[in-house]
Amino acid sequence: MTTTPDTAATSIALFEPALFDRLRASLPEIEAEAGRCDRDGAFPEQGIALLREAGALSAPLPATAGGFGLGTEPAGALGMLRLLRLVGAANLSLGRLFEGHVNALKLLVRYGTAVQAQGAANAVRDGALFGIWVTEGTDGLRYTQDVPGAPLRLEGAKLFASGAAQVTHPLVTARSPDGDTRMMLVPLRDDRQASAMPASLAGMRGACTGRHDFSGLVRPADALVGAPGDYLRQPEFSAGAWRGMAVALGGIDRLVSLFCTGLASRGRDNNPHQQVRIGEALIAQETAALWTRKAALVAEGDRFDPADVAATVNLARIACETAGLDVIRLVQRGLGLSAFLAGSEVERVMRDLATYLRQPAPDETLVEGAAWFAGRTLPDADAA
Ligand SMILES: Cc1cc2nc3c(=O)[nH]c(=O)nc-3n(C[C@H](O)[C@H](O)[C@H](O)COP(=O)(O)OP(=O)(O)OC[C@H]3O[C@@H](n4cnc5c(N)ncnc54)[C@H](O)[C@@H]3O)c2cc1C
Repeated sequence: MTTTPDTAATSIALFEPALFDRLRASLPEIEAEAGRCDRDGAFPEQGIALLREAGALSAPLPATAGGFGLGTEPAGALGMLRLLRLVGAANLSLGRLFEGHVNALKLLVRYGTAVQAQGAANAVRDGALFGIWVTEGTDGLRYTQDVPGAPLRLEGAKLFASGAAQVTHPLVTARSPDGDTRMMLVPLRDDRQASAMPASLAGMRGACTGRHDFSGLVRPADALVGAPGDYLRQPEFSAGAWRGMAVALGGIDRLVSLFCTGLASRGRDNNPHQQVRIGEALIAQETAALWTRKAALVAEGDRFDPADVAATVNLARIACETAGLDVIRLVQRGLGLSAFLAGSEVERVMRDLATYLRQPAPDETLVEGAAWFAGRTLPDADAA
């Protein structure tokens, strides 16, 4: 399932203008739906349909599978960044769902067999929405198998699963009888067992984040994807975080824009104190953009030391988190209580962004990046 760089670059060049034109034309509808979906259990049906119509859901597929390699071929890194950023700016919840879809396809292309990757491509063409469900509690997902090649019997559940009631093709991690972490593609039909989380999330309510119980489901042995431990294999395990950063960057874009228009609408944008905050917010936004671009190029490039890749994306993740939190603080101070008015767009975007910035193990992420680069130089993503 690979293309030569030239093929990928050509197909991306042909494809991008149409994709982005169609997406831009859809953004007002996607933004409007984000407001309507700010409630528990909501799901951006229209946004997903518009992404599908624009060709965004098939864009990550390699050219040989009828896609354009955005986010799966080195030449498509910045195209995917642009796509995730635009979607995140319009609706962070839709961005999260789209990012999960891209992540699952990336893993299937990277670790799946040619048959599995082609099967995924066919499913996307037939309207499938992929997702990646990893997070679990004490009742984590596991499977048993009588003999090699026999069907897989599933037990246990996934938590905080985006699109728990809508994703048709979740790629999940599951514990094998030997205790290994395996990836498994579990297409769901009328055997879906989704439920709400015990408590609501404050933000990202439009991503239908829930619990999915797999207990009792049986899948063929070829549902397993890759080898034991592939999901946790570095640098891919850490590197994939750049896509979530790109979505969060879109949220930062939106918030900075709402901040500036909010100040202007009250005639407060010429005040020097507010201008300091505007300047600081713009700096934070651009910091996040530069780090995300670097992370995308290093993660998707094929010429970097794997340890450099993982550590660069780790540092970038924390830089983007810090930038997002800085912007939230500046907006709260600058707009005051009007940033807290329930039902306002700025209040929702802040809530969504603050929730979305909660990514796994931030302490470990920073410390691992720091430990690797102490005494070393970060890779130059733009070096020829
Ligand atoms: C909107 C939304 C959608 C999501 N969708 C999905 C999805 O589709 N699929 C999926 O798999 N997951 C999903 N998740 C879950 C997500 O991937 C993360 O698991 C989750 O956001 C982790 O957040 P956390 O703050 O609880 O992280 P934690 O890792 O628990 O971090 C919380 C704090 O504890 C610290 N910490 C971590 N480990 C330790 C330790 N051992 N000892 C001491 N301190 C520790 C961290 O550094 C941090 O300070 C989603 C989450 C959200 C918010």
